[in-house]
Amino acid sequence: MSIDTKKLKALLQWYKQSLGEDLIAVLVVNRDGLIMDSLIGSSENSLNEEIIGGVSALVEPVLSRITEEFSSGSFGTGTFDTEDYRFIFCESGPEAVLVTVLDSLSGVDEVFPYAYLAAEKISRIFDGRTVSPVIPKLVINSGGSQIQRKVDRVQQVKVKSKEYAFKLILGGDGAVGKTSMVHRYVENVFAKDYKSTIGTSIMKKECSFKELESTVRFVIWDLAGQAQFKRVRMSYLANAEAGILVYDVTNRESFENIDINWYSEIMKASPNIVLILVGNKIDLKEERVVSTEEGEALSQKLKLTYLETSAKTGENINDAFRMLALQIIKKYIETQEV
Ligand code: GDP
Ligand code: MG
Repeated sequence: MSIDTKKLKALLQWYKQSLGEDLIAVLVVNRDGLIMDSLIGSSENSLNEEIIGGVSALVEPVLSRITEEFSSGSFGTGTFDTEDYRFIFCESGPEAVLVTVLDSLSGVDEVFPYAYLAAEKISRIFDGRTVSPVIPKLVINSGGSQIQRKVDRVQQVKVKSKEYAFKLILGGDGAVGKTSMVHRYVENVFAKDYKSTIGTSIMKKECSFKELESTVRFVIWDLAGQAQFKRVRMSYLANAEAGILVYDVTNRESFENIDINWYSEIMKASPNIVLILVGNKIDLKEERVVSTEEGEALSQKLKLTYLETSAKTGENINDAFRMLALQIIKKYIETQEV
């Protein structure tokens, strides 16, 4: 297959200009982990050509893990953090992945829209479809204080909720079944182990209510094992409109940590969030140690809707997400129609 390499180069140049100083390097990598094109940023951190060699060595093991995990050959979008760098991966059609390497202190919210757009254009270049390499300036609500940012978000929702996707996060101890719930909901599958999930994976799903003539689009952010990085966790939890607090009914500590840790940490990071409480793994009847009554009592204390689910059997998983979507409609969309 011959691709328009000149156009690809031009596109990467535009992408570099859009991101400015935060960009350390950008790479277009194919499914076998081979670098098809790359460009280093203009910031001081991108010292010289050597960095590309170093970055590719960093990127390689991550890519092979992605390839292993998603046997379907599709992994959407994700982020990955190391001490020195932040990586953003964007699927770019069936052939390629756009890998953006940023300074470890950069915010990803501002970069994501550009990365999506660039990845979409790259997939067109690979398909041989016509596309302009020009990346327009996007207006992104990133300036100003955190508070101003939240106000901007809410206004954005009210103005055009039809095109707006709500950021959904999951809180709860490791191994309670957060990733399993998301996969059950988005793809209707249950795999035994997701422990190798890299960084943050981001999935999209629409939830429609015919009766209400409303659709809620969720962008579901699932944080993997590096929750130990406080900075990563804060940006994961911030600016979210919807969230699910999950505990495991066979693990009392995970239940207690909802009240002790997760609820307050999420409310601090995203004060306007709509939350529900979920007790997962109800299929493990014999091992259950937290009763329905205890779950209900906690939900009353925190003033949240409560549901019991099993990601394994699929019981109540759709209902949990629909319940959340309904509350989102109540909070944002109805007020917008008035
Ligand atoms: P996370 O760390 O919260 O994302 O949890 P995972 O989704 O990775 O799940 C942790 C473990 O619990 C895995 O071995 C899953 O197979 C298992 N698991 C998740 N949900 C259920 C469930 O509803 N029932 C049972 N029996 N096992 C589950
Ligand atoms: Mg997980």
